[in-house]
Amino acid sequence: MSMDNIMINKSLAELSLGLQTGKFSSVELTQHYLDRINKFDGELNSFITVTDEQALTMAKTADEQIASGSATALTGIPMAHKDIFCTDGVRTSAGSKVLDNFISPYNATVVEKLKTAGMPMLGKTNMDEFAMGSSNENSFYGPCKNPWDLERVPGGSSGGSAAAVAAKLCPVATGTDTGGSIRQPASLTGITGIKPTYGRVSRYGIIAYASSLDQAGIFASSAADSALLTQAMAGFDPKDSTSVDIPVPDYSATLNDSLAGLKIGLPKEYFGEGLNSDVAKAVETAIEEYKKLGAEIVEISLPNTHLAIPAYYVIAPAEASSNLSRFDGVRYGYRCEDPKDLTDMYMRSRGEAFGREVKRRIMTGTYALSAGFYDAYYLKAQKIRRLVSEDFKNAFEKIDVIMGPVAPDTAFKLGEKTSDPISMYLGDIYTIALNLAGLPGMSIPAGMANNMPVGLQIIGNSFEEAKILNVAHQYQEVTDWHTKVPEQYSTEVK
Ligand code: GLN
Repeated sequence: MSMDNIMINKSLAELSLGLQTGKFSSVELTQHYLDRINKFDGELNSFITVTDEQALTMAKTADEQIASGSATALTGIPMAHKDIFCTDGVRTSAGSKVLDNFISPYNATVVEKLKTAGMPMLGKTNMDEFAMGSSNENSFYGPCKNPWDLERVPGGSSGGSAAAVAAKLCPVATGTDTGGSIRQPASLTGITGIKPTYGRVSRYGIIAYASSLDQAGIFASSAADSALLTQAMAGFDPKDSTSVDIPVPDYSATLNDSLAGLKIGLPKEYFGEGLNSDVAKAVETAIEEYKKLGAEIVEISLPNTHLAIPAYYVIAPAEASSNLSRFDGVRYGYRCEDPKDLTDMYMRSRGEAFGREVKRRIMTGTYALSAGFYDAYYLKAQKIRRLVSEDFKNAFEKIDVIMGPVAPDTAFKLGEKTSDPISMYLGDIYTIALNLAGLPGMSIPAGMANNMPVGLQIIGNSFEEAKILNVAHQYQEVTDWHTKVPEQYSTEVK
């Protein structure tokens, strides 16, 4: 097979051109990814459900749209959805036994948008149950593996989407990020991930974890590809009262803007104790690259960083305990066998179907919201949240973007942290504050440490997705970390 036929390293723009010029059809392209899923996903476990038939039907429609001249830039390009997005007629499990039998009767707005854009859906990807976790080990469907080392985690909670994109089982996949679930798995698997500003992308039809923090975004192989998908996903949705009605800029138009004079803030709290020195080195090397591109480095302080984890792990479980009360065995989802009475049905349905981590969060959240403790925990956490937001607000008066590591370390071994939830939570130190403040952030591949990928985090001010995509793209124009593919997945199937 000539290099020309190799599809896995093509950008979305190249794939689109190939489709438009008839080099290959969407049916062929879709089949190519289905073959890869078939060949590799047994070991990776990145998909919970593969929707081959539906994908090929959508691909056929896409080919007709292309032939009739009504295609968009994304028509015919296959993709995958994290299994937290409701998909009409397809199981939507949220990684939980509770929803193992749930066939969604409608599409999430994001699903509808990408469908309308003509993207065939390959399937639904693995995730931590109800998006709670940082390793994908809390999935009812078993852990997903990191394509760079099958003994290591891909990160979480959107581990399946990250692993699938990293192993080239799909060109792009959706994710959600409540406390880091797009940026951290992107970092651990060496791909590009963007979490837009809270309210930029509709959350309608995304199974709720912590509603004041949840936001949908995308995993891709580059910032340029991410720009195209963010474009297709963003925008006001009357069905989501938290979505914001401001115009969506053309994210691809500013990718090539010069970075001369860009002010990059480096928070001193992001480079302190607990950060693996090899990860630090990779991040520092990336920052040197930005200096060459004309950026100016400014040391900043985000003094309340150390309070972000405790505040988040009160607020997120509190909201989760309320959101998850709907899974009671009455309307849909798992119901226990032969309940004695209503209370027995509630108790056993929930007791039998929720996993350990989800139960832990429900109990913590319920405790934090209870009458005697509300002020001490929930209210206090909300006050801290304000302080954390103020830190960013102050910083952005002096700088354009913030950079730092995404995670303190590279991907850890499966099982390494499962018995110690606190150490798992502490790994979210650099990602969580951004969600508390609602800001947009990215992870881009910026080197390797111990043979595993390292991500660079780029944080923008509210609604400045265009800026961080531009900043990410300029780095990817002069480096090739984003083009690296794990050896065993770098060849074509067949
Ligand atoms: N690791 C964090 C948690 O477990 C974040 C997860 C997420 O962003 N969905 O809550």
